[in-house]
Amino acid sequence: MPHLPAPDRYQATPYARCGRSGLQLPRLSLGLWHNFGDRDNLIESRRLVLRAFDLGVTHFDLANNYGPPPGSAEANFGKILHADLADYRDEIIISTKAGYTMWPGPYGDWGSRKYLLASLDQSLRRMNLEYVDIFYSHRPDPNTPLEETMGALVHAVRSGKALYAALSNYNPEQTAAAARMLREMGAPCVLHQPRYNILDRKIEQGLLPVLEREGIGCIPFSPLAQGVLSDRYVKGIPAGSRAARNEFLKSETVERHLPKVKKLFGLAQARGQTLSQMALAWVLRQPAITSVLPGASTVSQLEANLQALKNTTFSPAELAAIDAAVAEG
Ligand code: NDP
Repeated sequence: MPHLPAPDRYQATPYARCGRSGLQLPRLSLGLWHNFGDRDNLIESRRLVLRAFDLGVTHFDLANNYGPPPGSAEANFGKILHADLADYRDEIIISTKAGYTMWPGPYGDWGSRKYLLASLDQSLRRMNLEYVDIFYSHRPDPNTPLEETMGALVHAVRSGKALYAALSNYNPEQTAAAARMLREMGAPCVLHQPRYNILDRKIEQGLLPVLEREGIGCIPFSPLAQGVLSDRYVKGIPAGSRAARNEFLKSETVERHLPKVKKLFGLAQARGQTLSQMALAWVLRQPAITSVLPGASTVSQLEANLQALKNTTFSPAELAAIDAAVAEG
């Protein structure tokens, strides 16, 4: 039987506008990079999607290559959507991306028109959808003219296969140039997806001011540094955790950050938050941020993360203490 969504689902989570566009996103969205592939526990994946929707988390973020194997996260998400939420497509924002290696040969990677448009068609087939809400260029391609990559995004929007165009991992200069082209071609960039967390603050230097100036929203990925900014690794590396798989998150990285993480624990506690809640709130404190994009392997992680939205303001003293805790040396 299809899922019956909670009638009060729009009471719990606040929404914010993507830059100067009409599109609103929940202040916390759900990322499907991990935990939705064919090797994962798909019972928990389904519970995650349904619980998220019941709590007002209307935005699910995918990419062509999420899995493993690549493509399986889209296929699994599509199955959940059609089995449980088929009547609610108009209440859901689905994003996907193309830009990293997806299939062999010269047309399955980077930023050509050939790759982006073929990949979007494949994503739509895997999810059994007529359109996605947001289509991203997943990374800039140094060997393809920016006009060509942006032209592909514009074509995706004009053809109705995507509603909005977006960028990920573009630097400030590339973003400004791409935003100008997209605006001129009639499919303005609504959203940018960079990495941003307490341990990686690079975007504060240049990207955030560009996004504010251009009226583009921002949805940072890996806000918990893949789980490092949480209590996941206080007592070592648990079985089933991302670091235990040692693929995208190495155990050395966890260990290297542990002294800083321990200092951050005390600061979170003093705010009445867990470290993961403080880390998410810290990202959301920036006015340029539309939504924060954590992943979750369990429903309880998702529920705990949503509690971060209750306090996203920081005193100057709290911010200074966080800066000091992560300062090198
Ligand atoms: P996070 O930094 O939020 O890491 C998520 C992981 O942290 C979870 O899988 C879980 O690890 C752990 N975690 C989450 N909540 C808690 C909690 N409350 N307590 C303890 N541990 C917790 O984000 P991701 O790195 O997963 O990235 C999020 C999303 O961003 C992706 O799903 C994807 O949509 C997008 N993304 C985009 C990229 C791009 O290039 N545009 C690149 C990377 C991600 P565990 O599984 O061990 O339980």
